[in-house]
Amino acid sequence: MSKSGLFHSDGQPFNPARFQGELQEGVMKLATNHVEKVAGGILCPVHHQRPTVTRTATGWEVHGCCEQLKEATRKAFGDQD
Ligand SMILES: [Zn+2]
Repeated sequence: MSKSGLFHSDGQPFNPARFQGELQEGVMKLATNHVEKVAGGILCPVHHQRPTVTRTATGWEVHGCCEQLKEATRKAFGDQD
């Protein structure tokens, strides 16, 4: 039996802990790209400002010029709960 042929992109043998970290970072990067893309397409109807979305430990925080913009941003992210 040969060992699993899994390697990291730099050729290091597979390491579950490292994989976990890289996976999480990859997912966060993808999600961050998505968030920035969506946020970049939102404009406050009153002040013509764009929202600022900052990454936190648990998710994202939306900042904007007014409650209307924050509301529009939340809607754009499909906040349906
Ligand atoms: Zn505004």
